[in-house]
Amino acid sequence: MTNLQRIELLEKERTLPRKEMRALLESHTAQDAEALFARARAVRARVYGKAVWLRGLIEFTSHCKNDCYYCGLRRGNARAERYRLDRTEILACCKNGYALGFRTFVLQGGEDPFFTDARLAEIVRNIRTIYPDCAITLSLGERSRASYQALFEAGADRYLLRHETANAAHYATLHPAALSFENRMRCLRDLREIGYQVGCGFMVGSPGQTIDCLLDDLAFLQAFRPEMVGIGPFLPHKDTPFAAEAPGPLEQTLFVLAVIRLLLPTVLLPATTALGTVHPMGREKGLLASANVVMPNLSPVLVRKKYMLYDNKICTGEEAAECRFCLQRRVESVGFHIETSRGDPA
Ligand code: SAH
Ligand code: SF4
Repeated sequence: MTNLQRIELLEKERTLPRKEMRALLESHTAQDAEALFARARAVRARVYGKAVWLRGLIEFTSHCKNDCYYCGLRRGNARAERYRLDRTEILACCKNGYALGFRTFVLQGGEDPFFTDARLAEIVRNIRTIYPDCAITLSLGERSRASYQALFEAGADRYLLRHETANAAHYATLHPAALSFENRMRCLRDLREIGYQVGCGFMVGSPGQTIDCLLDDLAFLQAFRPEMVGIGPFLPHKDTPFAAEAPGPLEQTLFVLAVIRLLLPTVLLPATTALGTVHPMGREKGLLASANVVMPNLSPVLVRKKYMLYDNKICTGEEAAECRFCLQRRVESVGFHIETSRGDPA
């Protein structure tokens, strides 16, 4: 089978035998990649037209009790600057965002014990009451089923929890023993059963990732069928155990993103900040590889630089309005347009 035949088959069947997927990932030309992107764009156009949805990202705490080896917010990083936004500050971000046309707020943070279920539920209830027409997305890491349930009942609709890698052995090389692959998977199942729209995802090029790991990731996505998938390159952070590791390659990230569009035609795929960090045109290239979501930052400028997951993270100096219109220009420069509705999956 040639790569073009594999791409055709993948589009038609929405799956590919592991052996053929391996061959496609392992060796392809720039021309093969362009053909894949064109097919992925066509599929995305059939489902979503030229729309790109906005999600307003509120990075509300840089405290984290975990020690993931890849992340700049890890507990063991004594040089990380820690902050948390209080309820009033979070609501101010939403107010600003609403005026700028945002209809999804994404509350993301480290796993910060200060934010108990009661505190979080109050914040979620407040946002739900003031903005009944908006989607509330949470991205707060691993919690108990009861906690996920309480936050859902308070009004949250979506949850982003990247699975990071679907290969248990690889998972154990990215995380200390206190974090388990089994619990990550338990969380994703609970979120799904409770009724959240669920996003999972992984870093491309994380240390130790092999083609087999990527094949496991794709098989997991096919089985789990998440509503959203967050994909970005791994990027090293200087104060982590992975400081000297190479960043994930842009081309492979784009290639995997387009493959995911063909596996899951209705999936919501963000052109991530990490893509924009690895290359100045990374997010535009992501859109051209079939991404259909952008996530401008709504966090107060004063805290932006403190939410450093990896080195050289972009968009840390601009006000929310600047970020939003900068992304709008970028989206339009590659022939798409911003949609200001909630952007639920098709
Ligand atoms: N604490 C929550 C959410 C914040 S971290 C959680 O872990 O789920 C959000 C995501 O940032 C992680 O899922 C991870 O995939 C990504 N991330 C962390 N460090 C990164 C790095 N060095 N390079 C690229 N992405 C990274
Ligand atoms: Fe904490 Fe999330 Fe970073 Fe892990 S990836 S250290 S859980 S913020």
